[in-house]
Amino acid sequence: MKTRAAIVENREDALRIDEVELADPGPGHVRVRIEACGICRSDLHAIDGGESITFPAVLGHEAAGAIEALGHGVEGLTEGDRVILSWTPACGACPPCRRGEVQLCQGLRMSVGSDGPLTWNGRGVDRFMALGAFSEHVVVPTSMAIPIAGSIPATEACLIGCAVMTGFGATTKTAAVRWGESVAVIGCGGVGLSAIQGARIAGASRIFAIDPIEERREAALRVGATDALDIGDVVGQVVRATGGGVDAAIECVGTSGAMMDAFNMIRPGGRAVVVGLPAMSDTLNIPAIILLATEKSVKGSIYGSANPAVDFPKLVGLHQRGRLDLSALVSKTRPLAEINEGIAEMREGKLTRVVLTF
Ligand SMILES: [Zn+2]
Ligand SMILES: [Zn+2]
Repeated sequence: MKTRAAIVENREDALRIDEVELADPGPGHVRVRIEACGICRSDLHAIDGGESITFPAVLGHEAAGAIEALGHGVEGLTEGDRVILSWTPACGACPPCRRGEVQLCQGLRMSVGSDGPLTWNGRGVDRFMALGAFSEHVVVPTSMAIPIAGSIPATEACLIGCAVMTGFGATTKTAAVRWGESVAVIGCGGVGLSAIQGARIAGASRIFAIDPIEERREAALRVGATDALDIGDVVGQVVRATGGGVDAAIECVGTSGAMMDAFNMIRPGGRAVVVGLPAMSDTLNIPAIILLATEKSVKGSIYGSANPAVDFPKLVGLHQRGRLDLSALVSKTRPLAEINEGIAEMREGKLTRVVLTF
């Protein structure tokens, strides 16, 4: 079928909305009509050359929509089902999937090459994270289309597909924050605001939000942070305020400096969780004796340690009962045709999310 997508032809030029050809869904695949897709920082990173992706490509990996067509052998999904797209293939066959750690699925790829279902003027088109959801339609395996129930606006549901799951899962699953604990969240974009809400819902007693941008600190306080700190000596401030450090610190920036701050602001025995996307060459320099003497741990978190098929519906449920605020993350909506304006706004750094509508 013919559909429309935002093509990245190269890193220099603006994205171009154009007609593309999308093959029908094969066995075990579904076609999803996209209703909304957030612009995530990883999409900007991909345009800037920080991800392995081949051009021409369609980016976009934070999307919600409805099932429009089923390939052979698809069970458990029907036309019209509302879905949130997941970017882990959750193949079910690799060792991590068999262990139940589908966030570590060995099938996960940033780039799936140009021989997939999408072509543009006869050329194969890569689809970022096997989704490529800056498009009116996508074809994905059923494991990447997670059905959801109830009424939730697509402009908010889509965020569960990346930022919300990543941040909320980092506090509730990776760090496994328990009631009464203290938590610090470094970086209060869409992921950080979701990490804060995870801490609030888990029952954290004190939640420090750390960000240099005032609008983001204000948003953090609205969604449940108890203290908001500008950059500066944040480690000293957090350690003094808690009498020795927080139980868990969630780093959502993607720099080794922020990761070391997270490590240095946890108490002995505390947990530092690394969520932000660092440069390939970044390293952490942790004195080995400190690990031994303090029993601190530092752990990575990809996709909030999610099992999307189980966790997306839970997050939708929290939203429907008024406990998870997704509207706080949507700074602005724009039609797909205005994707370049939306990308420019996300680059300015003040908006949490620009969400594209279709
Ligand atoms: Zn993302
Ligand atoms: Zn797998």
